[in-house]
Amino acid sequence: MRDSGDFLIRTLLAEGVITQAEVERANQAAQTQRRDPLDMLVAGGAVSARTLAIFRAKICEYPFVDLAQFDIDLRHAARIPRATAEKLGVFPLFCFDGGATVAMLDPLNLSAIDQVRQLLKCEVDPVICDAEQLGALITRAYSLVRTSGADVTVSVEDDKDTTSGDEPVVAAVNQIIVTAIELGASDIHLNPDDDALHLRYRVDGVMRTLHGPSKGMHAGLVQRLKVMAKLDVAQTRKPQDGKIRFTPATGDPVDIRLSLLPTIHGENAVMRVLRGGATIGRIEDLNMPDDVRKGYEDAISRPHGMILVTGPTGSGKTTTLYTALAELNCPERNIGTIEDPVEIRLPLVRQVQVNPEIGLNFATALRSILRQDPDVVLVGEIRDSETARIAVQAAMTGHLVFSTLHTNDAVGAVARLRDLEVPAFGINQGLLCVLAQRLVRKICSACRQKTPALAEVIEHVNVTPADAQKFRYGAGCDGCGQTGYRGRLGVYEMFRVTPGVHKLIEQNASVTDLRRLAAAEGMRTMWDDGVAKAIKAQTTWQELMKLRTIIDTEQPRESRAAA
Ligand SMILES: [Zn+2]
Repeated sequence: MRDSGDFLIRTLLAEGVITQAEVERANQAAQTQRRDPLDMLVAGGAVSARTLAIFRAKICEYPFVDLAQFDIDLRHAARIPRATAEKLGVFPLFCFDGGATVAMLDPLNLSAIDQVRQLLKCEVDPVICDAEQLGALITRAYSLVRTSGADVTVSVEDDKDTTSGDEPVVAAVNQIIVTAIELGASDIHLNPDDDALHLRYRVDGVMRTLHGPSKGMHAGLVQRLKVMAKLDVAQTRKPQDGKIRFTPATGDPVDIRLSLLPTIHGENAVMRVLRGGATIGRIEDLNMPDDVRKGYEDAISRPHGMILVTGPTGSGKTTTLYTALAELNCPERNIGTIEDPVEIRLPLVRQVQVNPEIGLNFATALRSILRQDPDVVLVGEIRDSETARIAVQAAMTGHLVFSTLHTNDAVGAVARLRDLEVPAFGINQGLLCVLAQRLVRKICSACRQKTPALAEVIEHVNVTPADAQKFRYGAGCDGCGQTGYRGRLGVYEMFRVTPGVHKLIEQNASVTDLRRLAAAEGMRTMWDDGVAKAIKAQTTWQELMKLRTIIDTEQPRESRAAA
């Protein structure tokens, strides 16, 4: 690699991709760390691994192959030992009669080509690829078809008691789950169809397809999942649900909810990855607008009253509530929660999982927990009138009560409580505030650029040309899987129960009147917060359009919000 390296650096300099100063810095670092100057250029951020590979391809006149564009058979890993693939920077992409297309970092490395030719026992046709993509491919390939050695352990008591106990299947399942943890995925989908097995991950609310094991492994993978979740291995025709506690080689154990559904092409597996306690930060990390954050902090510092968070499933309500609980959590306070399911474990907090099969629903559990002398109570969700009335009563009698409601916006919670037969005086005396929230995707900071769509921004988002100039988007890079987004952030609105609001509630005023008063008293909507965050270059105008679709389709139902 070193022979062609100098020439490559000179070309990059001539093309203005890197500067002389960057080369000198890389050379110095290379000497002290005994590494290749090209590696140091990439490590120092002067040039991406991808650009480097594309330039090398031009110089050597070999084709550049974007590995993300091809469905590569990972079983080729069996033909070259892992150590060799890593040392030489090679992986066979396509094998034909008498020949193989091999991804290489440096096709001018003739001794590497020789070794690969001997291992594959056929002619080698090199192509150039991005070092980071190749490294990731090698890691995935050797984990998914590994034949021995496990760096991942799974806490299943009876690991041998499996009809699919062969190691490649075990390694493949482990790799699939480890990848989900690395991507920060919320769900893993294994979908079989006529001729292929599709492996997809939901990341930041959007599905992403990744190369996975072949269809031939499907039955084995499902069997393995059933063993891990202690389900009936013989049952393939009925839906099954189970739980898996997975312990990766590094990091905390992760709980996974497994759902199996028999389809005409076999059992479809969906795994929900439940987040651990590590993700709970502080209130200032929730990205709330200043006035909302102050309102929330003020509410949770009260000795009693009810704080509601509203939004559909997956809008970040749990994180918002747990952040408050974590803030309140200390030995001097008795905190109890009733949840379905218990998603995040907190030390000291007594968490109860509802279990309708034995009659332990939200209402009965809430009654019991109130007899345990709590200061703070979290009710996972209020969906029936009995739970609503007990919760409001608790809020009026010296407890701080947190809960969620399925309403579209913050003000809609009042209508919902009325639907649940909570009397006006109960709402007025119990309720402190309602926080409504949604999640929008965050622009990847590594590939953030000015948005070219100024006209669209001005037209659809209705901002001034000066503000439109501040909009950004992600062009896509390896760090964000070419999506342009990385992570999500909340957009919020807070409805405070003020003296003016008290009067309207007593008069049984409509939600429209309440909304009008809240706006007059300074409430900013989720839409306003979203626009403010786009102007701060945190999200895109396309994400705002998605947000508006949700808000627009929900508003007309305001009279019976989420009934
Ligand atoms: Zn990016």
